[in-house]
Amino acid sequence: MANALQPVRGTRDLIGEDAARHTHVVDTARRITALYGFSEWQTPIFEDTKVFSRTLGETSDVVTKEMYTFDDRGGDSITLRPEGTAGICRALMTNGLTQTLPQKVFYAGPMFRYERPQKGRYRQFHQIGVELLGPTIPLADAEVIACGWEILQALGIAKDVMLNVNTLGDAESRQNYRSVLVEYFSGFATSLSEDSKIRLEKNPLRILDSKDEGDRKIVGGAPRAFDYLSEAAATFYDGLKRQLGYFGVPFIENSSIVRGLDYYNHTAFEFVTTALGAQGTVMAGGRYDGLVEQMGGPNVPGIGWGAGIDRLAMLLEQPPLSPPAIIVIGAERAIEIASYLRQHGVKAEIAFQNNLKNALKFANRVNAKWAVIADPDRLQVKNLEDGSQTESALEALPGRFKE
Ligand code: ATP
Ligand code: MG
Repeated sequence: MANALQPVRGTRDLIGEDAARHTHVVDTARRITALYGFSEWQTPIFEDTKVFSRTLGETSDVVTKEMYTFDDRGGDSITLRPEGTAGICRALMTNGLTQTLPQKVFYAGPMFRYERPQKGRYRQFHQIGVELLGPTIPLADAEVIACGWEILQALGIAKDVMLNVNTLGDAESRQNYRSVLVEYFSGFATSLSEDSKIRLEKNPLRILDSKDEGDRKIVGGAPRAFDYLSEAAATFYDGLKRQLGYFGVPFIENSSIVRGLDYYNHTAFEFVTTALGAQGTVMAGGRYDGLVEQMGGPNVPGIGWGAGIDRLAMLLEQPPLSPPAIIVIGAERAIEIASYLRQHGVKAEIAFQNNLKNALKFANRVNAKWAVIADPDRLQVKNLEDGSQTESALEALPGRFKE
């Protein structure tokens, strides 16, 4: 026998409880974002490479080493999407919606990054996310964040999670901040990691996001963005903090939150848990006012977040329960009975086994609570928990099982 085929490194199957957890996260996010008025968009999982290379930043980890990029058979450079925002902004333009604002978008689906696989880090992973395109007032940022917080609460994991917020300021603040950062990091130029030496040349802000141990120590003493804000940027940031208070979202300020991608300004935030070790960020985002313009569109500001479904699913305490099935046994009348139950909203499965003993074994494996054993002339309902058995009329079954 040939060696059995294996999944590609960094990918995995979602089956059984894993699949149930995953679905529960998406369903919960879909329900809550709908309450806030977001509508779901589905964009392709691959795009023209430029959609990402032009937007995520030349020195970002994603562009320098993580993209799944290949030439297709026609010779076009294609990239499997590593994140959701760039594709949504591309779709906003393609569909002529840049003048129909605000647009409030929810998405869910697989993303692809060539990373070193480990717990909570895969090459195909999954994200939910929202984008709010158009408004450029702190209320928009606060509402997007509050919506994320409400999803974490509904999933029952908010208690282990803390919102970290920061501001990157506007263009003027960034320029001021950039020059003091360069001055500060230049003092440590020989001690920085090789990656950060390059960042110092190309994009010093990115050093704040470094995961290198040595860099982290130097970053600890770095000047903080909010000490270099222009007046307008400071007013925006104060507004955000006030509005978060009105929404009742607890947070701490953390000046080292800069986010991995280049397109952010003003608000940057992460929801961080202590329960997952180094893979502690479960939901992250920020404001990206220049992104659509950078992609060749008009000036459309935006704010959004993305969250790793895989990590959220791991944090769920209880696996989501699916209602126990009723197993219908009895070749002749099984279809009639199962159809009747399903029409009345009761989950019913027909046993395919050809004898009672095996059918009951199957019922046991799927944790069924009841079995309906149908003879041509009568129906017996068996309680699989205590083994008791009673006769019943067909019409009485749905009422019994809905209790
Ligand atoms: P990290 O710092 O963990 O690499 P990131 O900054 O690259 O995260 P984002 O681009 O902000 O992550 O993506 C948002 C969320 O998607 C992350 O907070 C995380 O929950 C999830 N995520 C990112 N990369 C992966 C991955 N390879 N596997 C699983 N989840 C991921
Ligand atoms: Mg990453």
